[in-house]
Amino acid sequence: MGAREDLLREAVAMLRHAGTVYSVSPVYETQAWGLTDQPDFLNLALELHTLTPPALLLHMIHDIEKSLGRERVVHWGMRSIDIDILFYGSEIINTDTLTVPHPHMPRRRFVLIPLADIAPDYIHPVTGLSVQDMLNSCEDTQAVALWGRL
Ligand code: ADP
Ligand code: MG
Repeated sequence: MGAREDLLREAVAMLRHAGTVYSVSPVYETQAWGLTDQPDFLNLALELHTLTPPALLLHMIHDIEKSLGRERVVHWGMRSIDIDILFYGSEIINTDTLTVPHPHMPRRRFVLIPLADIAPDYIHPVTGLSVQDMLNSCEDTQAVALWGRL
C-alpha cells in the first residue's frame, strides 16, 4: 500500500517548515479499533525545535493535516493523519483549542512508546513523571508493534 508511510514522511517534511526536526522515533503500528475495515495506524514521535508559538504551531499542524487529508480522504479513509503537540517545552497550556501537555498521553501506549525512544527522561511539567515512568505505569494493553523507520 505504501500510503500510510508516504503520509508520515510528508507530514514530517512539512513540519520542517515550522522548525528544526531534531529526532524522529522509529515507526510503530497500532491496531485500529472500532472501524475494523481500516488499516492499522502508524505512529511516531518527533522532537521539533521551534520559535513558533504554540497557538501558531497548532494552526500550522491543522494546515498540514488539511493538505494531506483533502487529496487523500477519498482513497484511504477518513483519518489520513493526526498530528498532536505532546509537550511544548515545560509549558502548561489550557485554552479552548489547546491543552499541553497532551491530556491523553499518559494513557496511550502508542504515544508513550515512540516518545520514550526519543525522550525517556523528559519530565511531565504537571505530574513530575518522566516519559519512562508514564510508560512503566501505563495500563493501556493495546498492542504496539515496531514497524520500521521512515
Ligand atoms: P485527537 O487528536 O484527540 O484524536 P483531533 O486531532 O480531531 O483529535 O483534535 C481535535 C482538537 O484538539 C484540535 O482541533 C485541537 O484544537 C485540539 N487540541 C487540544 N490540545 C491539543 C494538542 N496538544 N495537540 C493537538 N491538538 C490539540
Ligand atoms: Mg489531533
